[in-house]
Amino acid sequence: MKEFEIAFPIRHEPFEAELRTAAGRALGVKPERVADVRIVRRSLDARGEILYRYRVQAAAQGELLEAYHVPEYRDVTHSEPVLVVGGGPAGMFAALHLLMEGRRPVLLERGKDVHSRKVDVASLNRQQAVHPDSNYCFGEGGAGTFSDGKLYTRSNKRGDLREVLHQLVAFGAPESILVDAHPHIGSDSLPRIVERIRECIVAHGGEYHFGEKVLDLQPVSDGLHKGWKAVCERGSVFAAPQVILATGHSARDIYRLFAAKGWPLEAKGFALGVRAEHPQSLINRIQYHGKYQPGMPAAEYALVEQVDGRGVFSFCMCPGGLLVPAVTQPGEVVLNGMSNSMRNSPWANAGIVCAVDPGDVPAFDRYGVFALLEFQHQVESAMFGFSSSLQAPAQRLVDFCRKKPSQGLPKSSYQPGVLNAPLFELLPEFVYERLRVAFAAFDRKMKGYYTNDALVLGTESRTSSPVRIPRDPETMCAMGLPGLYPCGEGAGYAGGITSSALDGILAATAAAR
Ligand SMILES: Cc1cc2nc3c(=O)[nH]c(=O)nc-3n(C[C@H](O)[C@H](O)[C@H](O)COP(=O)(O)OP(=O)(O)OC[C@H]3O[C@@H](n4cnc5c(N)ncnc54)[C@H](O)[C@@H]3O)c2cc1C
Repeated sequence: MKEFEIAFPIRHEPFEAELRTAAGRALGVKPERVADVRIVRRSLDARGEILYRYRVQAAAQGELLEAYHVPEYRDVTHSEPVLVVGGGPAGMFAALHLLMEGRRPVLLERGKDVHSRKVDVASLNRQQAVHPDSNYCFGEGGAGTFSDGKLYTRSNKRGDLREVLHQLVAFGAPESILVDAHPHIGSDSLPRIVERIRECIVAHGGEYHFGEKVLDLQPVSDGLHKGWKAVCERGSVFAAPQVILATGHSARDIYRLFAAKGWPLEAKGFALGVRAEHPQSLINRIQYHGKYQPGMPAAEYALVEQVDGRGVFSFCMCPGGLLVPAVTQPGEVVLNGMSNSMRNSPWANAGIVCAVDPGDVPAFDRYGVFALLEFQHQVESAMFGFSSSLQAPAQRLVDFCRKKPSQGLPKSSYQPGVLNAPLFELLPEFVYERLRVAFAAFDRKMKGYYTNDALVLGTESRTSSPVRIPRDPETMCAMGLPGLYPCGEGAGYAGGITSSALDGILAATAAAR
């Protein structure tokens, strides 16, 4: 077997014959002696002529290309249960993995099924009605359902990404996610995928319970058997030998539960800042060096700058995307971004955030382990305090950096609306100062990025969890709490869809063991 690279102009999908000829060259055989050829990676190269670069595997006759087979789901109807609290990427992939291990997932989700959730998300956008259990963060599929569905993770240490990607394809994601360097699915496709995952889990004997918000977790022991009980808001009680806790970074009540019980928690650095929204046509012009043509993928960007020894970086960039209200309770303004599979809106948005550590906010020391959680909440509340609604305080980018009020604002994709505001005053000063320096520096990396045609909006604050639930690296259990497996973004060990899914798989593997 040989691996080789080949490039084609972006509008030219490589044909089987072209690949076979190149494969024959790589293997040193005639094209007709090539037994199999497969593209394993595709990446866009816009540095000169705009190309797709392909990594290709080829096998000569008598050889086989390695195939990946998703392990089989078992019928677990009569197997021992494992409670899975939270139906986001970590919880869903933990549940799927439990089926492979022959254990019965019983999934408890505070929110609604994805169809009912769509109705609540629509009324959040149109009527500004914040449902505390059904929104962009809570409900079937978790925070990943109405997102851009970017599927990259920087870490390979966490597990085999193929287990996640191949299952997503089996549930309806495009096969391109298996090869694209920057795979993404999109908000128009994700709900159906999430629903098929649930159908598969239930068909194999697992259980899904919506509207079951877990308020309490209690260790139980009857002398012979040890396990856990989950007590829900509606009064239902579920019990199992193990609990996988996958409640995400916005379930602040779960952190409060741990604190009330005296269970270990740690403060953890996170990142906070603004969302920047540019015309997508401008980003296309910059990234494709003026060679963009309709039909090419909407251009992405990733920016990072060190300011005072701290990283300021773009986060969750959504090409051709939309800004959405990611609040989970009334009285806050929180922004995030999503996009559809075609990424065809006229806007490009990204979080531009700076790393925040407990040392940055000494005034919050009195909140102990919740110092950064409280800081996050206060910034979100300050945004709401200005607008008294879900409207986002906003400014033109250059005005923001020059501390100058903006004269009118460009059109934005943010449906609840934007409010012309002195955003530079509403953000904590150290955050503002770092952003200001970074924005100017970004223009050196992407000429034209620093422009008053762009809007900055407050605030992007749910980048990752500001609290960690420490776990034993051997058992994966919460420290001192055998049988309780915190995982995903809420536990503070993952960030993003794929790394949370992989962490859920790790938790399921440990729980089944
Ligand atoms: C708008 C938006 C766009 C995003 N875009 C991307 C992207 O393109 N790519 C990417 O990698 N990441 C993206 N993210 C982040 C990504 O969605 C999260 O990192 C990921 O979903 C975390 O997975 P999780 O399973 O750990 O937690 P979550 O997805 O947060 O899921 C937690 C689940 O637990 C449930 N829950 C919480 N508390 C309880 C309780 N007490 N009882 C029962 N259930 C409970 C919640 O309702 C929720 O469904 C985006 C996030 C948002 C909000």
